[in-house]
Amino acid sequence: MLTTKPKGTLDVYGVDSYHWHWMEEKIRGISELYGATEIRTPTFEHTELFAKNVGETTDIVNKEMYTFLDRGGRSLSLRPEGTAGAIRCFVEDKLYAGVLPAKFYYMMSVFRGEKPQKGRYREHHQFGVEFIGPYEPENDVEVISIAKDVLDAIGAKATLHINSIGEAEAREQYHNVLKSYIGGNLEHMCEDCKSRVDRNPLRALDCKVEKCKKIMEDAPSIQESLNEADKEHFEGVLKLLDTLNIAYVVNPRIVRGLDYYTRTVFEFIDEESLGAQSTLCGGGRYDNVVETTGGPKTGSVGFGMGMERLLMSAKANGKVSDDLVPRRQVFIGYIGDKGRFLSQKLVYELRKCGVRADSDTMGRGLKAQLKYADRINAKYSLVLGDDEIEKGVVQIKDMDSGDKYDVKIDELESFFKTV
Ligand code: ATP
Ligand code: MG
Repeated sequence: MLTTKPKGTLDVYGVDSYHWHWMEEKIRGISELYGATEIRTPTFEHTELFAKNVGETTDIVNKEMYTFLDRGGRSLSLRPEGTAGAIRCFVEDKLYAGVLPAKFYYMMSVFRGEKPQKGRYREHHQFGVEFIGPYEPENDVEVISIAKDVLDAIGAKATLHINSIGEAEAREQYHNVLKSYIGGNLEHMCEDCKSRVDRNPLRALDCKVEKCKKIMEDAPSIQESLNEADKEHFEGVLKLLDTLNIAYVVNPRIVRGLDYYTRTVFEFIDEESLGAQSTLCGGGRYDNVVETTGGPKTGSVGFGMGMERLLMSAKANGKVSDDLVPRRQVFIGYIGDKGRFLSQKLVYELRKCGVRADSDTMGRGLKAQLKYADRINAKYSLVLGDDEIEKGVVQIKDMDSGDKYDVKIDELESFFKTV
């Protein structure tokens, strides 16, 4: 086990780490255009926070959470999503007394003990936003448009599916409609659906088992259970999406798996390039969650976007460049002791001036040093020997063209700053 990572985890290094940086920079830039600031919350929280907010009957809390007792016997859980922690912070620090909406974004690792497969891991990363305070459709649409802008900027190809699940009244009514529909088909459904029909029949709409999906295709729509205020809110959201020219599909089967959602729910789905794990982003409105966490009743909207899937979709659409790794600008080789010390001094000084300089730190001979310069794809190379040091002039070689330049050692800094 010493050389095997835990199931469902990933290592990121080399060119991949540059793909992540590129994606993270786009995300930060776009979030900040919307006035969102970053929130970082703990990797673990009190278990009850997730039980209460995400919901005790959800798969996430029920089956997938990494829960442990700490040394003081407290039950803690690694975060399985990002909303609960952000809302807890909003309530704990009484941010509801400050300027609203509070607009947060985050990028964080989340942990779920799921069956690992392509696009489904036990530790994955989510970019998410939380806009806390407002009830108006403008905010639903602001949040949706951040997601869309990020997907476009990264080059993912996803379709927005949107629905409204109303407030408690609509869901209660719909639960009954759905229970009787599922009841008539129960013997043909999976064990999970059978056991959740009483507690939360909505979740059958989310079921990934083929035979359940087929049955649920003909289920009555939750739209028919919405009251006037719910409908008005949903129409407001759609009208604004039209105004902004953001394309969408109204999909009554989108209900989201977590307990805290009210009214708007949405997903961005890339069926073309992602196969079975095609949902890139899931989100919606959760107007009760601040209150259930102990704060005043406060509207909120947000989403979580899977960053591994986001990158997969971008790669499948040819939008991720492998040229993102910055080249080493210069390799400084040496012959002899004087050269050895000077090479270290010069790379140190050049780096301070912002030049990506490198030298040999493995005690290699000259031939091996130059081979190394080649392997790290240095743009220029030079070699410091006694002669060069005495004359104060060194020959710089352009490793691509083979061109050579004589440059004073004292003027290396200005040379590399201008080429
Ligand atoms: P799914 O239906 O794929 O299980 P979910 O509804 O559980 O997704 P959310 O809780 O809404 O997903 O999480 C937001 C996003 O995080 C998802 O849309 C997806 O892109 C990503 N995601 C969720 N679970 C995983 C996982 N186990 N591995 C990788 N990415 C994930
Ligand atoms: Mg899931």
